[in-house]
Amino acid sequence: AAKHKGRGSFRFFTGELLTAAEDRRQLEEALHDAVTRGEFELHYQPLVGAQSDTVIGAEALIRWNHPEKGMISPAQFIPIAEESALIRHIGDWVLRTACHEAARWPGNLKVAVNISPTHFCDAAFPATVANALASSGLAPERLELEITESVFLADGSDTASRFRALKTLGVRLALDDFGTGYSSLAYLRTAPFDKIKIDQSFVRGVSDPGSRNGAIIAAIVGLAAALGMDTTAEGIETHDQLELMRAIGVGQIQGYIYSRPMNAAAFLEGAGHSEWGITPEGPARQRNE
Ligand code: C2E
Ligand code: MG
Ligand code: MG
Ligand code: MG
Repeated sequence: AAKHKGRGSFRFFTGELLTAAEDRRQLEEALHDAVTRGEFELHYQPLVGAQSDTVIGAEALIRWNHPEKGMISPAQFIPIAEESALIRHIGDWVLRTACHEAARWPGNLKVAVNISPTHFCDAAFPATVANALASSGLAPERLELEITESVFLADGSDTASRFRALKTLGVRLALDDFGTGYSSLAYLRTAPFDKIKIDQSFVRGVSDPGSRNGAIIAAIVGLAAALGMDTTAEGIETHDQLELMRAIGVGQIQGYIYSRPMNAAAFLEGAGHSEWGITPEGPARQRNE
């Protein structure tokens, strides 16, 4: 019986592995075709001035409208794309699309674009950025590239010259998910970031009694201010969290309390009002009349 069971579970195990590999291959294939099939779209989540309640810009967040599976979140497919050359293909599309859509937004609204480490370290990356700016007509200072500290760990990349090339173009650089990973202060000493985005994990439970998160956020905000960098707190969902972020002096707020990510048309509609005020209860618009 034991032998039988063993053989049975072996067969089951192999079958499961094969299925996983097959699923994966199919997913990679579907991902590859998704750009040409027009299955990706960018949603935009407002970045809001913490003191002013006005929209400063938005972060572009990719969504995959899969013909059978529906909307798939980037947390599911970006890691797979990152393991292959697909991320450059997808990343190029994201940059081009975000620049073209943001070029239609009024005023100085900024667009923040997430850049994968592999894409960032690609030799052609600065040229890709320059092309996206030139063909869309978007002013460089309205484009903010969000990178995580993993770019410093990526192999064979000359990050210092990469940063210089991008600063020469005039784009803004944001350090995303700060506080997770190694969070080495050495990166802040040398890399020309314009902004630090405080990771959502510090916001979770920030208003719980005895939480140390508030002290850590305050220290990050102090550090950023001393280095002349802006700050954004991500993942703000409650009024308590918002009040704390304001008291600490965080520059910008991003989170469901103001708005979930919305499609390009909805964002453009909101942005059409010259002064886009937004309330913590949701994306209600107030005109300055
Ligand atoms: P991220 O860059 O840190 O983006 C913030 C994530 O937090 C987004 O998830 C956003 O929808 C979510 N979020 C914002 N406010 C709240 C809130 O109040 N509560 C909660 N629970 N979540 C909130 P999303 O869109 O699922 O994206 C996940 C990650 O996928 C992003 O994290 C980013 O690392 C990656 N990603 C998204 N779009 C792109 C892209 O175009 N290119 C690349 N390379 N990565 C992308
Ligand atoms: Mg981001
Ligand atoms: Mg983040
Ligand atoms: Mg994140």
